[in-house]
Amino acid sequence: MQDMRGGGMVPETKMQIRSGDTADVIIVGGGPVGMGLAIELGQRGKTCIVVERGCRLHNIPKGQNLTQRSGEHFKCWGVSEAIRDASTIPHDYGSAGVTAYGTLLSGYDYDWYRRAQVGKFYAAANERLPQYATEAVLRARVAKLDTVQTRFGWSATGIDQDADGVEVVCAQGPDGEHRTLRGRFAVGCDGARSRLRLSAGIEQDIDPHDRRMVLLVFRSTELQYLLKRFEGKSYFNVLKPELEGYWQFLGRVDLGGNWFFHCPVPADTTLGNFDFAALLQGAVGAQFDIEFDHIGFWDLTIAVAKSYQRDRVFIAGDARRFWHQYRI
Ligand SMILES: Cc1cc2nc3c(=O)[nH]c(=O)nc-3n(C[C@H](O)[C@H](O)[C@H](O)COP(=O)(O)OP(=O)(O)OC[C@H]3O[C@@H](n4cnc5c(N)ncnc54)[C@H](O)[C@@H]3O)c2cc1C
Repeated sequence: MQDMRGGGMVPETKMQIRSGDTADVIIVGGGPVGMGLAIELGQRGKTCIVVERGCRLHNIPKGQNLTQRSGEHFKCWGVSEAIRDASTIPHDYGSAGVTAYGTLLSGYDYDWYRRAQVGKFYAAANERLPQYATEAVLRARVAKLDTVQTRFGWSATGIDQDADGVEVVCAQGPDGEHRTLRGRFAVGCDGARSRLRLSAGIEQDIDPHDRRMVLLVFRSTELQYLLKRFEGKSYFNVLKPELEGYWQFLGRVDLGGNWFFHCPVPADTTLGNFDFAALLQGAVGAQFDIEFDHIGFWDLTIAVAKSYQRDRVFIAGDARRFWHQYRI
C-alpha cells in the first residue's frame, strides 16, 4: 500500500487531560463524525474538546464513497481542496458501480450507479478516497481551530450529567489514571460499540444477521487489465444464488492496483483454514496475481439506537446507527 495509509502516518502527540478541563461540548471519538462535528461547532465559536483513544490513524480503506452532499460539508469546513488533493480516484470516475451475476466477468452485469451524473444538482463534487485519508484532512483542519482542543490517546470510560452540564471520565490506557472533562453537552461519536451510548443508557434495536464477513485488502496488477471493460467504475457487487441475497463486494482503493473485497464466509473461517485467493478469483471469474495487505473479519449486524439523545448527551454517526461490527 502507499505511504499515505493511516497506520503509516506520524502519530498525534498525546496531551494531558487536567481534571476539570472545560468546553462547551465534549466530543468522544475523533473519527470522521467527531472531527467533522468539532469543525462545524468550532467554526461557530463553540469550544470543543475531542477525546480520541487512538494516536495513529487506522489503515483500513473503508468509507470511501463521499457523495456531493458530503462535499458540501467539506466546502463549509474549508477542506474541499485538501480532500480533492487526497482523493485516490478522480471524481468523475469514483462512486460508480456495477452489479454482476455469477462472476464479475460473466458478461451478465448491470451498470446501476453513477453518482457523478447528479453533480450539477449540488454545490460540490463527489470524491472517492480511503477513510484514513479523509480523517487526516479533517485532523489537519481541526489543528488550525483555536476553539477546538484534542486529547489523543485518551478513552472515555463513563459519563455523569445533571441539569447544568456533563462530566466525561477519561483514562489513558486500561490501568491509566482517571481524569474528568466538563462540558455543557457531550456527543458520543465513538463508533459502533459506543461507550457513551451505553453510559447514557440509550438502547438499540438490533437485527443480527449472524454473518461472518471477511475483508481483504490486496494489490493486483493483472486485475487492472482484467477489469478494463469496467473503466470508470470503482466498485463491483457480485451476486451468486448460494449467497441468498448477500453480496460479494470488490472495490478500487486507487487506480494503481490497490483493492479491497468484502463477502460472507463460513462461520468457522480463520486465517489458517481458508483459501482467500480462490475466493477472490471465484468472485471475478479468472486467475490473477494477488498480494494481501490485510485479512480481517467482521460481523454483519444492523443496529439502530432507540433515541439519539439523553438530556445533555447526544450520539452521532455509527454510535447511533450501524450495519457492522468490526472485529479484526
Ligand atoms: C470494514 C468496514 C468497511 C466500511 N466500508 C464503508 C464504505 O465503503 N462506505 C461507507 O460509507 N462506509 C463504510 N463503512 C462505514 C464507515 O466506515 C463508518 O460509517 C464511519 O467510520 C463512521 O464514522 P464515525 O466517526 O461515526 O465512527 P468511527 O469511524 O468508528 O470512529 C469512532 C472513533 O471513536 C474512537 N473511540 C471509540 N471509543 C472511544 C472511547 N471510549 N474514547 C475515545 N475514543 C473512542 C475510535 O478510536 C474511532 O476513532 C465501513 C465500515 C467498516 C468497519
